[in-house]
Amino acid sequence: MSNEKKYDVVIIGSGIGGLLCGLILAKSRYSVCILEKHHQIGGNIQTFKRKGCTFTTGMHYVGSLEEGEILNKVFKYLGIIDKIKVRKLDEKCFEKIYIEDEEFNYAMGMDNFKAQLLEYFPEEKDAIEKYIKKIESIWKNIKLINLEEVTEADIFKLDSLTENAYDFIESLTDNKKLKALLVATNGLYAGVKEKTPMHIHAIINKFFINSAWKLDESEVLLADVIKNEIESYGGEVLTNKEVKKINCENGLAINAVTTNNEVFEARNFISDIHPAKTTELLEAGLLRKIYVNRIKNAENTISCFSLYIVLKKNSLKHINSNIYYSDSWNVWGTDTYDSKNWPKGYIFYTSPDKDNGEYAESATTITYMKYEEVEKWENTTIGKRGDDYLDYKKMKAEAFLKVIEKKIPDFRSHIDTYYTASPLTYRDYTGIPEGSMYGIIKDCNNPLDSFISHNTKVTNLFLTGQNINLHGILGVTMSAMISCSNLIDINKLIKEIKNV
Ligand SMILES: Cc1cc2nc3c(=O)[nH]c(=O)nc-3n(C[C@H](O)[C@H](O)[C@H](O)COP(=O)(O)OP(=O)(O)OC[C@H]3O[C@@H](n4cnc5c(N)ncnc54)[C@H](O)[C@@H]3O)c2cc1C
Repeated sequence: MSNEKKYDVVIIGSGIGGLLCGLILAKSRYSVCILEKHHQIGGNIQTFKRKGCTFTTGMHYVGSLEEGEILNKVFKYLGIIDKIKVRKLDEKCFEKIYIEDEEFNYAMGMDNFKAQLLEYFPEEKDAIEKYIKKIESIWKNIKLINLEEVTEADIFKLDSLTENAYDFIESLTDNKKLKALLVATNGLYAGVKEKTPMHIHAIINKFFINSAWKLDESEVLLADVIKNEIESYGGEVLTNKEVKKINCENGLAINAVTTNNEVFEARNFISDIHPAKTTELLEAGLLRKIYVNRIKNAENTISCFSLYIVLKKNSLKHINSNIYYSDSWNVWGTDTYDSKNWPKGYIFYTSPDKDNGEYAESATTITYMKYEEVEKWENTTIGKRGDDYLDYKKMKAEAFLKVIEKKIPDFRSHIDTYYTASPLTYRDYTGIPEGSMYGIIKDCNNPLDSFISHNTKVTNLFLTGQNINLHGILGVTMSAMISCSNLIDINKLIKEIKNV
């Protein structure tokens, strides 16, 4: 069954990266069609409701949304800034950090952040200044983030591709507490001591230190806002369209075929799905074997286990900060656990009650979980995994709650109901292999192997999303701009965003 229309661009996957590509191109008058395999759009940014509470699944806060900051400018340019609802986190403490029995605040704004660190560690002025200077300089050197004109060579040129974050932070000082505090939010990039490049740590930390905002998706959804905007330019966003094949002729992609045999023709294709999955959509031989093997063998970041908790009415006070907990000063080690010491750390946040904002209506908490823990159920589907899987999740949830109660005594007494998500849940809702949190690991020891280009050997098929360059809202936004630069003038786009 062939769709009559031939689009300028067909985009596979409606994650935030696919949606942003769709909007940038639709705004530039390209006819676009986004094909999403699920009944709900958004991938990691999709939400769900239980007992009147809205839960975000993989995008709970964003950074740099203050007037004049990068995400604010991009969202303004795209016409979505006034349509989404956000809440600024506590400027004095947007991240509340618990390490062992000690407690610290991350203050918002680079000057405040620095002043707060100096208050905790007055004797560490040199180390703190060196750290701030480093992350500022990494950020400053990325032209795209600073909306500066780029050439093809420096479109996403990064300093310190091979510089290791752990080594740099180790070189600052012998003070184990300061070093741990600087990387206490490393769950944001699933930091691995031996691998995480310094620039990943720097970009993500600075992005949130600039300003940090909670997405309030109780009434409007970010994904729907972008979809509506795409449609206002004549674009289409279609659900229940799982692409099973991209057909090519003479080295060019000509159409995408869905599992119900609908054919979508286009002049160009952008894939927002995991690159390993994209290679499976193409006939063997179209891509070099060495490239396919590299992508298929690339290691993915660890997965996670989440508790989505509906709280009793007016029971637990809401806190306008994220809580990050680590049970030891070795904050790099929370991903290496066994059944006896899991979980070694987590992120926890609450959402205010709609009727009484002093109290929380729900809480969400996320910790690492290795895929191998749930591997034995990998051939099952959502809702049909069997009682032993449910028992396993319950056992893990109870172990998790026990650790949370170390910081929030009697937390269980506030709970009305809770729901759980395992690596299989993430895998099945996003299509990401092994439910990996952020896709392909960026490895400073092997930068060329872990950095995936936007271009493919099929010259009108481009890649986008979190696996290209960087994950998270900033990463996929930059990635979308670069993917679209194959079709539109990137410097014109940068100028328009800058002058918005
Ligand atoms: C628990 C968790 C918390 C996070 N918190 C934050 C946060 O607070 N802030 C932040 O900035 N980032 C956060 N992230 C990271 C962020 O959510 C992701 O980096 C980002 O959403 C990835 O977007 P993407 O465009 O790469 O695509 P994805 O979200 O991976 O979406 C891909 C889409 O493609 C669809 N698809 C797959 N295969 C096919 C096919 N064959 N045909 C059609 N469609 C297909 C999928 O269904 C999915 O909708 C978090 C991630 C996780 C896991």
